[in-house]
Amino acid sequence: MAALPSLRNIGIIAHIDAGKTTLTERILFYTRKIHRLGEVHDGTAAMDFLPEEQERGITISSACTTCAWNDVVVNLIDTPGHVDFTIEVERSLRVLDGAVGVFCAVSGVEPQSETVWRQSERFGVPKLAFVNKMDRPGADFSAVLDALRARLHALPLPLNMPVGAADSFSGLIDLVRLERLDFDHATQGATVTRRVLTDAEQALAAPWRERMLETLADSDETFLDAYLAESFSLPDILAAIRRATLARRLTPVLAGSALRNIGVQPVLDAVADYLPSPLDIKPPLALDPESGECRPVPCDTQAPLLALVFKVLMDGGRKLAFLRLYAGTLREGDACRAVTRKENERVSRLYRLHADRREQLALASAGDIVAVIGLRHAHTGDTVSAPGEIRVLERITTYAPVISRALEPRNADEGKALDEALARFTTEDPTLTVDLDEGSGHRILSGMGELHLDVVLERMRREYAVAPRVGNPQVIRRETVARPGVADGLFERELGDQLHHGDLSLAVAPRERGAGNVIVFSPETENTALPRALRGAILQGVEDTLLSGPATGYPVQDVAVRITAVRRREGASTAPGFQMAAGLAVRQALEAARPLPLEPIMAVEISVPEDWLGSAIGLFGAHGGKVEALEERGGQKCVQGLAPLARLFGFSTELRSATQGRAGLMLRFARFDTA
Ligand code: GDP
Repeated sequence: MAALPSLRNIGIIAHIDAGKTTLTERILFYTRKIHRLGEVHDGTAAMDFLPEEQERGITISSACTTCAWNDVVVNLIDTPGHVDFTIEVERSLRVLDGAVGVFCAVSGVEPQSETVWRQSERFGVPKLAFVNKMDRPGADFSAVLDALRARLHALPLPLNMPVGAADSFSGLIDLVRLERLDFDHATQGATVTRRVLTDAEQALAAPWRERMLETLADSDETFLDAYLAESFSLPDILAAIRRATLARRLTPVLAGSALRNIGVQPVLDAVADYLPSPLDIKPPLALDPESGECRPVPCDTQAPLLALVFKVLMDGGRKLAFLRLYAGTLREGDACRAVTRKENERVSRLYRLHADRREQLALASAGDIVAVIGLRHAHTGDTVSAPGEIRVLERITTYAPVISRALEPRNADEGKALDEALARFTTEDPTLTVDLDEGSGHRILSGMGELHLDVVLERMRREYAVAPRVGNPQVIRRETVARPGVADGLFERELGDQLHHGDLSLAVAPRERGAGNVIVFSPETENTALPRALRGAILQGVEDTLLSGPATGYPVQDVAVRITAVRRREGASTAPGFQMAAGLAVRQALEAARPLPLEPIMAVEISVPEDWLGSAIGLFGAHGGKVEALEERGGQKCVQGLAPLARLFGFSTELRSATQGRAGLMLRFARFDTA
């Protein structure tokens, strides 16, 4: 197992086509050789994926692949290139400690990478930038540096520079060590040679080197003193770059071409030298539900286990959960708890996944990431902890499905295949839910947005060859009440051969938006020494009825229910009787309290160059949007506002054509509210 200071949990963030896949492949290729040598002594069993499991093995390990570079262990966490499902990006940003942004040397900073980069800033993730495709015609290293400044607000610090560009791109000059780097074609770049600079190369590098030192001195006071005194060593430079990178005062930049095998190893060196270990990051917060306090969780292997499930995959019928451990240790066979679900769990196997094999581990510790078999209850975003622990790590995000489509299989066989596919997708993706409409037999698939459901339907066609008839997208609603209401509920009926009786009064009242439902018993009812079973039955009756409101049939939210009187009759009152009476009373009280439909309201962020600001805002208004804030960000205007989801159909396409594709759009569910 790697010592904590030499562990790196990182992600590669990139616009589609920038070269993330190629870079990842090269990283795995160069690191495999080293790991093969280093693996014998760690005493764990490793097995290659069998040929028939290779394809699935690669898909699974792509969630998090472990490789080793010199004495550093790198967990490479998959980060999606698109931001349509914020949760996918967020859940990886939550568990990674550092990231490498990949940019194309020709097209520079594209709107999508801009959005992911900005999100990673919100999570405080230190980053490096890799300017890829230096071999392409039109490659321009300096232009990408300008774009990093202008569009991402980053302060770039080039650590190496390309020698030549496009066809003549031949290697790099390391500006930190002032050496020339060549990557041997015959070994697909695996052999890297370093040599001293020629005079011509010296002359080329001198201004870049000077600018690098100045930028560093501007960003780090300790180094500034040494720089002004003209007395600093190579370790001083390395330490200063590390400090400034961790504090996100600057972004080290490296050049290369993943496809031509140039410049990949320096990226790995920089990951090892400058990106944070789990000890360097700001500890995450955990909520103690009893005290309501949020406290940081320091990375301590001796503390009780606290881990976050950030991805779940089905692997041949077994559930494989990916955990980031924040505190404590986890061993094979350990009992633990899915705190979020209030369920006990047991871990049967721990794995580390490599590009070509899975490695069974006896133990995993705080800071690390492992794949686990055996958890039955935990979902993505849940906390898994030591038994007896009650704290929960901050959730990844609000999961509220906001859109649904009815799926209608064409025959019974397709129905079976459809259910099988849906079972897997909903296990892997917590933002997806399926309900069966008993009347029509339709499966109602709900998710985070139009595109989210489109992608699921497409995967269903591709991986399961299932193509059911699909209904139009429907916005999911909620309801609440506009004013207080009261009702009595009396139930008295013979069911089977027993009389069931229940009789009570209750009141409902609106609560603040987003406050949730509460159910309380008034003090008078508390005095009647209500048996536990009846009390439980009343709560159940109220909760069940709140799941489907009288106005819309959707769940009721932000309502206070107060049981004001319970009237028992000796020998006749039963739990089922009170459950029914409570249901009747709540329904009546809700009807009397003027039900108010609520719809999903989205937080919208549009980033757009100044010239298109007017048309973007106009279009947003036409879709029911209300602007809440307008900021300047990286030379662009950033509009933040709210809009009802029901009005946003087609907005993304219209915005793109109104701004010649220059606008970036991010949608996130905000709350259920009146439009
Ligand atoms: P991803 O979408 O970010 O994963 O990008 P890929 O790694 O799939 O690369 C997209 C395309 O760019 C592929 O056709 C690659 O062969 C090509 N590509 C990747 N890296 C380079 C590079 O360094 N130079 C050139 N010329 N092409 C590259």
